[in-house]
Amino acid sequence: MAKLISFDIDGTMEFGDPPGIVTVEMVRTARDLGYIVGSCSDRTVSNQQRLWAEHSVPVSFTVLKHQLDGVKAQFEAEEYYHIGDTELDEYYSGKAGFLFLPADASAPLVLGINPPS
Ligand SMILES: [Mg+2]
Repeated sequence: MAKLISFDIDGTMEFGDPPGIVTVEMVRTARDLGYIVGSCSDRTVSNQQRLWAEHSVPVSFTVLKHQLDGVKAQFEAEEYYHIGDTELDEYYSGKAGFLFLPADASAPLVLGINPPS
C-alpha cells in the first residue's frame, strides 16, 4: 500500500513565501517512489493548484489546513505524513492522525526523498 505525504507550502516548499527547504525535485522523487503527494496550506485551493501546475508537478490533493482529515478519508495509505513549519501544522497533523515532520533537513531524510545526486 502507498504512503502519503502532505506538503505545507509557505515556509516549507522552495516556492513558498518564505521559501522552505523542500524542493520540487524532492516532491517529484517522492512521486517516483510511489508516494501519494499533495499540499495542505493556508493558501486557497486554486492558488495551490496553480503553483503545482507552474512547477509541473501533478498532485493528488490540494486542501486547506483544517481539511487534512478529509485527505485521510479520501486516500487509503499505509502511513500519512504532513511536513510543515509551524505549530499549526503540528496541531492539524495530530488532529487528522498524520505523522508530523518539521520542515527541516531531517524530513527528506526520514522520507527517503532526497533526489539521487
Ligand atoms: Mg507554513
